[in-house]
Amino acid sequence: MTNVAVNLAYIVAAVLFVFGLKMLGSPDTARRGNALSAAGMLIAIVVTLLSKGIVELHWIAIAAVAGAVVGALAARLVAMTAMPEMVALFNGSGGIASLLVGWAALFGVADGASASTFTATTVFLSVMIGGVTFSGSLVAWGKLAEVLPSSALTFGGQRFINAGLLLALVVCGVLFIVEPMPDSPFFIAVLVLAFLLGIMAVVPIGGADMPVVISLLNSYSGLAACAAGFAINNNVLIVSGSLVGAAGIILTNIMCKAMNRSLANVLFSGFGAIQTSAKVEGEVKPINADDAGLILEAASAVTFVPGYGMAVAQAQHVVQELGELLEENGCEVTYAIHPVAGRMPGHMNVLLAEANVPYDQLVEMDDVNPRMPNIDVAVVIGANDVVNPSARNDAGSPIYGMPIINVDHARTVFVLKRSMASGFAGVDNPLFFGTNTRMLFGDAKASVAALIASLKG
Ligand code: NDP
Repeated sequence: MTNVAVNLAYIVAAVLFVFGLKMLGSPDTARRGNALSAAGMLIAIVVTLLSKGIVELHWIAIAAVAGAVVGALAARLVAMTAMPEMVALFNGSGGIASLLVGWAALFGVADGASASTFTATTVFLSVMIGGVTFSGSLVAWGKLAEVLPSSALTFGGQRFINAGLLLALVVCGVLFIVEPMPDSPFFIAVLVLAFLLGIMAVVPIGGADMPVVISLLNSYSGLAACAAGFAINNNVLIVSGSLVGAAGIILTNIMCKAMNRSLANVLFSGFGAIQTSAKVEGEVKPINADDAGLILEAASAVTFVPGYGMAVAQAQHVVQELGELLEENGCEVTYAIHPVAGRMPGHMNVLLAEANVPYDQLVEMDDVNPRMPNIDVAVVIGANDVVNPSARNDAGSPIYGMPIINVDHARTVFVLKRSMASGFAGVDNPLFFGTNTRMLFGDAKASVAALIASLKG
């Protein structure tokens, strides 16, 4: 393949990545966007392998089939609630792949010669960022999968130790760049220190904050790939790495904003550890499915507010069925989506899409809140923090300032959950004691099924 043909193919791949990413921004184009980006990646891989004469075509085909089987199995078998774990492993793989590519670039120079300063610098960056991403992602996976203790592990002087590690890493990196040989002891030191720093940086962060960390590590894996792209002078790797790096940091920023926290607070405060908050007192008013069904039957505007509990209960299909039933009854049905409901970005969108809820019924927090006083019933399905009014009213609350869906402004609120337990942030929720709130206790799937039975009955 000529150089021009290779670069043209790379441009096509890059364009597919960019448009694919853009299409991921909306639920109705997301699937096509994913397929488009995957096609771009296929072009990039096949063209690279063929143009460098690295392997024969049949090996590419075998690897592609093997990869597709692993990917399809992972997509089918991994539970939706375990997606962040899977993404952590994918990020870790991206990090170690970039590390290996960067490392291999050191051997690409003529025997006995040393790499140029530019190559050595990019090798150092890909190994450092790739190493941190790899070990950090493994720790993140371990915390989420509860293979490791998920609480924030903090000890005195931790930040100084981490700062010392980073400093040592940079010093060893500079010494390696001065004399960049594959067997340089400073290179080995960079490798070891990068792995160590990844572990030490993620250990003090609580398991519950891991999705933000994973999004940040995703960004790092892109940066590592970008550095590796410079190391081996591969344009498509530079482009795709930059896209991943930028997308990851934008997502991290969106998640922090939606939780009203700074990235520094997520990384250094150990918030994911147990939090305690002031007790909320008042009268709880339970309701049974039959009575709730009667109220829903009379409602002309209902909004469902799903949260993590809907994912746990896998209630999305019954929720869709209930929504359809209400619509048939002449009711206007919407689904209010909070940006950090659940445990990963887009968690609720994915679940509702799986249940074929029409995209035009999904309403974002900022659009639904002004309409809330006109909603007859807000049905909260396993959501807690994202509908907690103390985020608005209680300056002493750990979640004060976090934007929420104002379900308490609806005429009636049904809260479907199993107990009075708190959510992710570990704070009590005054919503449950509101005069217009009725608690429908039980597993969300069973409760929604009972509501359907009541409406049909
Ligand atoms: P929460 O974690 O606040 O609350 C979930 C509620 O679901 C619990 O109170 C629980 O109560 C209930 N629940 C659990 N299982 C079931 C079940 N089977 N049936 C019915 N109810 C159930 O969830 P939210 O979605 O409201 O908030 C998400 C939280 O996660 C936010 O604090 C956010 O900041 C945080 N977060 C989100 C990220 C994201 O990307 N989406 C990333 C990192 C953090 P009970 O046990 O009584 O049933």
